[in-house]
Amino acid sequence: MANNYNPYDNMLQVLETAAQKLGLSRNDYEAIKYPERELKVSIPVKMDNGDIRVFEGYRVQHSSSRGPCKGGIRYHEEVDIDEVKALAAWMTFKCAVVNLPYGGAKGAVKVDPKKLSRGELERLTRRFTTSILPIIGPEKDIPAPDVNTDAEIMGWIMDTYSMLHGYAVPGVVTGKSIDIGGSLGRAEATGRGVSVVTGELLKHFNIPEKGTRVAIQGMGNVGGVTARLLYEQGYKIVGVSDVSGGVYKADGLDIPDIQAYLDAHKKTLEGYSAAGVKKISNTELLTSDCDVLIPCALQNQITEDIAGSVKAKYIVEGANGPTTVEADAVLSKKGIIILPDILANAGGVIVSYFEWVQNIQELTWEESQINDTLKKILIRSFGQVLEIVKEHQVTFRIAAYMLAISKLAKAKKIRGVFP
Ligand code: NDP
Repeated sequence: MANNYNPYDNMLQVLETAAQKLGLSRNDYEAIKYPERELKVSIPVKMDNGDIRVFEGYRVQHSSSRGPCKGGIRYHEEVDIDEVKALAAWMTFKCAVVNLPYGGAKGAVKVDPKKLSRGELERLTRRFTTSILPIIGPEKDIPAPDVNTDAEIMGWIMDTYSMLHGYAVPGVVTGKSIDIGGSLGRAEATGRGVSVVTGELLKHFNIPEKGTRVAIQGMGNVGGVTARLLYEQGYKIVGVSDVSGGVYKADGLDIPDIQAYLDAHKKTLEGYSAAGVKKISNTELLTSDCDVLIPCALQNQITEDIAGSVKAKYIVEGANGPTTVEADAVLSKKGIIILPDILANAGGVIVSYFEWVQNIQELTWEESQINDTLKKILIRSFGQVLEIVKEHQVTFRIAAYMLAISKLAKAKKIRGVFP
């Protein structure tokens, strides 16, 4: 974790508030508070120098009430079980908000993949896959990429699972390469979704997209695509950052130039310079002068310590859990509107769902069909959350949780408690 803050407690607090606003009885939502299953595994890996190193891995399945579990796999050296439990629960809520027939899960390995060779990373991934094999599968639990995992890693997972079953099973993971059953549009889906809901939010407040000043933390899969799409739509991207720090330019950064720099410098912003561009820290990025702040890195970035200094009027959570509960209260008091992660970054899981549907039906969709349906689902979900905001006079976060929990409580009630 980025600090001592516990994202699972954060999730529980928001869940309680939303359940109370809905007037649910404790019996209606008690089971939603706990993950259905937590698996911890030890992963021995033969390193290139012949040594054996053992890594710790997890797969947490939060809920399968509304369908198979779904959620990414994260490689990060500071990951812990509470972070994975929170991320798994957020996946359950996210799938319910956008009405996908999925529950939620998350997996992680405690490792800094930048310190491993490609061969070591492949052996780690394949061994992790065999360790979680009994609980994953197209009808049970479908992993996907998350922080520090990508299409190549998903390919190794798909291959390992398929080899052990004796036939190709593309539907076991999403976010794969197109050549082995991946979906058109998946790589860009989360950033595309962030750009769609940002547009809807501005439209609701009658603010033109053109010239709106945006700062983005993180230039990976989510942040990088969000920056490019918003830039192409005429937004002014004034600040971006990665783990090495950030850059800021009041009259707008040249995003294609920055993308070209990242491509040429192993995806790091370190050393980037251009006329009028100021170097800033990540905290300065989060508190920079902008209209919309889009955190797209890790959880717990906007804390109580810096919330008072945030200048943006709107925050769109591209990352999962970037705002702590305490910070959320400070920001709300300042009148800052926050579009929560479970709605704002749902584009990824929506197109993952399309990928899985294509895999299990053994057909392929056109990219335009994928992008159009993604947009339609997000606009519909934004509208439903907005209705709850207006009706109950709550924040977008509480409204999104209310929408999710009402669907989960209903599903649980219909299914009943076994035995
Ligand atoms: P990536 O690994 O592709 O990118 C993460 C980015 O954040 C990189 O630019 C990284 O910098 C930067 N970063 C990491 N740590 C810090 C830090 N401490 N301060 C500032 N920047 C930092 O991950 P994704 O883009 O896939 O994921 C980002 C967030 O979005 C996560 O919270 C993830 O759970 C969430 N998400 C991702 C989805 C997806 O489809 N990929 C779907 C939904 C949510 P560097 O490269 O220099 O390390």
